[in-house]
Amino acid sequence: SIPLGYFGGIGAASKNGILFKGGNFLDILANIQHVVMDKTGTMTEGVFKVQEVKITDGFEQIDILNKLNLIESKSTHPIATAIHEFAGEIDHTQNIGEVSEIAGHGLQTTFDGKEFLAGNFKLLEKFNIDYDKNLENIPETIVATAFDGKFSGYITIADQIKEDAQETISSLKNLGINVTMLSGDKTAVVEKVAKILGIPNAFGSLLPEDKVSELMKIIATGQSVAFVGDGVNDAPVVALSDVGIAMGGLGSDATVETADVVIQDDRPSKIAMAIKIGKATKKIVW
Ligand code: ADP
Ligand code: MG
Repeated sequence: SIPLGYFGGIGAASKNGILFKGGNFLDILANIQHVVMDKTGTMTEGVFKVQEVKITDGFEQIDILNKLNLIESKSTHPIATAIHEFAGEIDHTQNIGEVSEIAGHGLQTTFDGKEFLAGNFKLLEKFNIDYDKNLENIPETIVATAFDGKFSGYITIADQIKEDAQETISSLKNLGINVTMLSGDKTAVVEKVAKILGIPNAFGSLLPEDKVSELMKIIATGQSVAFVGDGVNDAPVVALSDVGIAMGGLGSDATVETADVVIQDDRPSKIAMAIKIGKATKKIVW
C-alpha cells in the first residue's frame, strides 16, 4: 500500500468520520497491541427496551412502575430512557424525596419518607436488601427495585449488538491485537455478548474505579493499549490509555473531550479502520 503522510492519514480518517486530535495518535495506533472496550454503547447500540416486568407479591405493579418512572426521570442513563418509553407519562403527584445517583449501581430516593431503590443487584446488596440470588444468572440486564427495605420486583431490559461488532473483533484479531471487554453491566450479560463476539477476555459488574484497575493491570504488562468507550464513566480509562477512543454520537461530553480519537458515527468497525490507516501512514521526516 501507498504510505500516507500524517496529513494524508488524518484526512483519510476524517473522510471516514474518524477524528484524530493529533498526528502522533496515528503512530501509536499503528503499533497498538491491545484494544480494551466498553460494552454498552460501544459494541451494543446502547438503546434499551423493556422486555419483562416481574413485581414481587404484595406490591402493586402500577405503584412500583410509577415510582420507577419518576426516579428515572432524574437520570440521563440509557436505562432511564427505556423505562420512560415503557411506562409512559410520569405521575408527578408522588411525594418523592431527593434522588441520588450511585455510580455503577443505580438510584436511591424516598417516597413518603420510605426508601426506594432502582438499579442493579450490587445496589440492593449495598442497602442490605434480600433478593433471589438466582436472578444474577439470567443473562439479561435487570433493573431491580426495592421499597421500604423489601425487594419489590424487577424489569428486564435488552440492548442490541451493533451489526459491525463481530467483524470488528475478527479484524482486530487478524491484526494480531488482543481484545478485552470491561463493563459495568451484569457479568452474565457481558459474558453472553463476549461469547457472541468472540472476545476471550471480558469482565462485568465493574465500577468506574474497577475499570481503571483492570486497565492498569493490562498497561502493567507493557502492552500499548487503546481504550474505546462511550459512557459517562469512561473518561478516566480513556485518559489512562495510550490512545483513548470515544464513540462520538451517543457518547458523553466528558469522554469525547478526553478522547484522542473520536468515531463520529459510533460504528465499531472504525476502530480497526483507524488502526489500518495508522499503519498505512508514515511520518515524513524532512
Ligand atoms: P456501563 O455503561 O458499562 O453499563 P454504567 O456505570 O453506566 O456502566 O452502569 C452500570 C450499571 O449500573 C448499569 O448496567 C445498571 O445496572 C446500573 N445503573 C446505572 N444507572 C442506572 C439507572 N439510572 N437506573 C438503573 N440502573 C442503573
Ligand atoms: Mg457505557
